[in-house]
Amino acid sequence: MVQALVCAFLIVLLPRAMNSSKDFINDNGLNSHLSALIQNLDGVEKEAVARQYIPDMQELNIRSDESSDPISDEKYTPINGIVHRYPDRVLFKVSNVCDVYCRYCFRREMIGVGVGSSHLSDNDFDEAIKYIKSHKEIWEVILTGGDPLILSPRRLQKIFDCLGEIDHVQVIRIHTRIPISNPTKINDMLPPVLKSVSKAVHIVLHVNHTVEINDNVGVAIKALRAQNCSILSQSVLLKGVNDDAKTLEELFKKLITLHVKPYYLHHMDRAIGTSHFRVSIKRGQEIMKDLQGRVSGICLPKYMLDIPDGFGKIPIDNGYINALDDGNKYNIEDYQGCTHIYSDEI
Ligand code: SF4
Repeated sequence: MVQALVCAFLIVLLPRAMNSSKDFINDNGLNSHLSALIQNLDGVEKEAVARQYIPDMQELNIRSDESSDPISDEKYTPINGIVHRYPDRVLFKVSNVCDVYCRYCFRREMIGVGVGSSHLSDNDFDEAIKYIKSHKEIWEVILTGGDPLILSPRRLQKIFDCLGEIDHVQVIRIHTRIPISNPTKINDMLPPVLKSVSKAVHIVLHVNHTVEINDNVGVAIKALRAQNCSILSQSVLLKGVNDDAKTLEELFKKLITLHVKPYYLHHMDRAIGTSHFRVSIKRGQEIMKDLQGRVSGICLPKYMLDIPDGFGKIPIDNGYINALDDGNKYNIEDYQGCTHIYSDEI
């Protein structure tokens, strides 16, 4: 693995990195939306977006606690395309590619053109649908990948039609970065497909910084909202991108003005070669505490850790409440850091 990365850098990336930064961006496989966005930004904002997509020599620093499957998707994969970790929901990995390649991605070793087919084979797709049909406890199907919205409207329609016939599936959730990374892809073709879905559809946008939300992104979000979909967001807490309260405040407020509910702020998973993006849990909790005091509650996502080795997600916001020894009393901390005793008499 290390040798392969070294070779990749020496053969492909190093010569590019020696060019001017403008050429590097254009020659880096980014789509025109992202190239233009990065080139029109300056300073820390430019760095915040570029850092998410442009390879960095620090990726060669591989730590012993990193993994190619940091949350153990593999362990919970009964058949190709399905991850069944929690009883009432499954991940349905309908695509192996995205419109972008995020350098911190926890599935960075499992997605992209190098992993084989870009989407599930017909046979694997049929088997996955059979699996969902035969597991009556599955209430929610989460379309992920890769990015599901990279698929053609025809393929998406087939997915929605098949899931639409399964009575116990009540909710379809779609995790996507495309409205942010390539918003003009949300064109006239997609909304009618979404509108035809007979289940409740929730779309979760992956967005990390306010400057990623320009006018085109606003148009794409509006187009999605105009269908029968609710829109949520998820972000990853990343060093040098959004690891301060002001940046996240701006992001979450912007999302709420676009009717997008901030849902999760993820503590980054330990994928191989991503340690230069790490922010400590302590710092993450400080940021969330800062936000708690100064931002409207509707703007606040949950700060979440996916426990390594597949033990699931837990909220890791700072503990504001601690039980005291004598039964029904609690030590409570308010958002300004003052403590109070709360007596929980019933
Ligand atoms: S869009 Fe999501 S799945 Fe795709 S590379 Fe980025 S973080 Fe990973």
